[in-house]
Amino acid sequence: MHEVIVVGAGAAGLWCAARLAERKKRVLLLEKTQRTGTKILASGGSRCNLTTTLEADQAARLFGPRGARFLSSALELLPPRAVRERFHALGVPTVEAPLEKVFPRSQRAVDVRDALLRWAIGSGVEIVLGAAVESLEPAGEIWRVHTREGRVHEAARVVACSGGKSYPKTGTTGDGYAWLSALDLEVIEPVPALVPLTSPASWVRELTGIAWESGATRLLSPAGKELLRRERPLLFTHRGVSGPGAMDPSHFVARARAAGALERPFVLELDLFPKVSREELRARFLALAAAPGQPSISRALPELVPRPLVRAAARVAGLAVGGELPRAAKLAKHERHALIEALKALPIPIDGTLGFDQAEVSSGGLALRELDPRSLQVNRCPGLYVCGELLDLTGPIGGLSFLAAWSTAELVAAALR
Ligand SMILES: Cc1cc2nc3c(=O)[nH]c(=O)nc-3n(C[C@H](O)[C@H](O)[C@H](O)COP(=O)(O)OP(=O)(O)OC[C@H]3O[C@@H](n4cnc5c(N)ncnc54)[C@H](O)[C@@H]3O)c2cc1C
Repeated sequence: MHEVIVVGAGAAGLWCAARLAERKKRVLLLEKTQRTGTKILASGGSRCNLTTTLEADQAARLFGPRGARFLSSALELLPPRAVRERFHALGVPTVEAPLEKVFPRSQRAVDVRDALLRWAIGSGVEIVLGAAVESLEPAGEIWRVHTREGRVHEAARVVACSGGKSYPKTGTTGDGYAWLSALDLEVIEPVPALVPLTSPASWVRELTGIAWESGATRLLSPAGKELLRRERPLLFTHRGVSGPGAMDPSHFVARARAAGALERPFVLELDLFPKVSREELRARFLALAAAPGQPSISRALPELVPRPLVRAAARVAGLAVGGELPRAAKLAKHERHALIEALKALPIPIDGTLGFDQAEVSSGGLALRELDPRSLQVNRCPGLYVCGELLDLTGPIGGLSFLAAWSTAELVAAALR
């Protein structure tokens, strides 16, 4: 009999199984699909943003106060720096990229997956592919793991790492939620997260293909409450908005939609120049209005902004804009004020998300209060451990989801030492 059964050979499962086997545990790793680490392969545009350059406490804070508290033991054990060191030791040197990202130096996600797989196999993990787990059954001192193929595997400890239910084509279809619910554990309904947003506004869709790298976004609830602010790039699409500036706060929209509470749209407010105050913009406009040659308003802007985006802001400000941008000298005071407001707080109405098919992760999962955060053992189910995306943890884009997967896997492996 194996000592530990790990369910799901994704990011968390491969790491946890390899670590346990390295410590001489007899480990069985069950994977539903015919390959391991599918999401690793698909990640970061097949480059795999495997962690962040942030310190552990900064990274933890990005999961919100509750998530940060919960992750503190895991991130203390495996801070972002240690993730890089481990991959380096596994033959995958890493490089830093803008926005606190870390990639393998080869820029190949497959190298990350292969390194984990080599580590697992080399340490003696027994991997069974095509083993779709259907339920977890406590039986006295042991756990029985039932597969769809009719097999029953037994072990004293089980680690559930079956991931969420985003990108279901890859094999993660949310199976773990059902096993945990069947054990009477609280599962927070999963909703799509890190997913593009949809907008009903035609002016937004007319900007399809326009990207703005250096802005800041704020998601406001229909009641006007700020839910999340991020200084991240935004991309306009034919359905609405994408890029981290839109995707990071997307779970708030998805949760409202799931609760049937999206009668009025959310607003994603775009500040095109977060480093420049309204007063400074006003001074620039006034100086330009006095300049000879009647220059267009674009000359007052601190950066080169795509013309369609300036035109859209001017229209939102109520200025009659034809093919040409307005001249600074022609703006009345109230028009200048409205334009500055539109540039500093362009209100993009949001009425939904692109759903699980396009979501990088799921928000929701096993309620954190069901676990001991120092071991990730389920309080009411001795011998059952849960890690990775199956947990109710949501962080932003930037290697944070993998960091949570690796560090929670490391914590479980340490607890089972
Ligand atoms: C397109 C895309 C890009 C991404 N890019 C990044 C990125 O660059 N950086 C980042 O940090 N995060 C990224 N993510 C998120 C990241 O991939 C996940 O958060 C991470 O893989 C979660 O790890 P996990 O081990 O919990 O789950 P997964 O990696 O999803 O692994 C779960 C495994 O369990 C298996 N499984 C499911 N059900 C069963 C069952 N019934 N029986 C047996 N096995 C089962 C699945 O087949 C899968 O192999 C991306 C996600 C997507 C979809």
